[in-house]
Amino acid sequence: MKIAICPGSFDPVTLGHKDIIERTAELFDKVIVLVMSNSVKSPLFSLEERMDMIKRCVNMGNVEVDTYNGLLVNYARENNAVAIVKGLRAVSDFDYEFQQALTNKSLYPEIETVFIAARGENMFLSSSMVKEVCRLGGDVSQFVPGEILDDVIKRCKGEK
Ligand code: ADP
Repeated sequence: MKIAICPGSFDPVTLGHKDIIERTAELFDKVIVLVMSNSVKSPLFSLEERMDMIKRCVNMGNVEVDTYNGLLVNYARENNAVAIVKGLRAVSDFDYEFQQALTNKSLYPEIETVFIAARGENMFLSSSMVKEVCRLGGDVSQFVPGEILDDVIKRCKGEK
């Protein structure tokens, strides 16, 4: 069974993330969406909330959601994953992602990093952009899955 990991902070999950997760699930037998705790210093949502939001908006039988606060390659090794799948947006993502891919390959040669090109409409979509727009009262319904829209709006307004 070919297992892939889609790691990220998902604070919160966006339609860009959802697209990459679902496309990964079409390519691999099982996908673990891994919510990493160490990548965001002061997240808007707790790890549990982020995991719960992903579960609510991704409904594919071969997708699981988990969390980890250690080294990604250690998690990959422990869970027999063959690939780390990342979404690539603009060229600006490339340098950093390539560095990470090379580092992970040196730490754990059995793992492959696979890049999936973002869809044109998601090229400039990021969790931080969603939070910024939402805090300033903008409409983020075209950026986040409908299932979590209320959670994002409420949290950005500081209601819960
Ligand atoms: P962000 O960069 O939005 O904070 P994460 O760190 O949670 O997101 O990213 C997790 C993964 O999702 C990364 O591989 C990232 O490149 C990818 N990703 C993030 N936003 C998009 C998008 N709009 N389209 C495609 N992939 C994306």
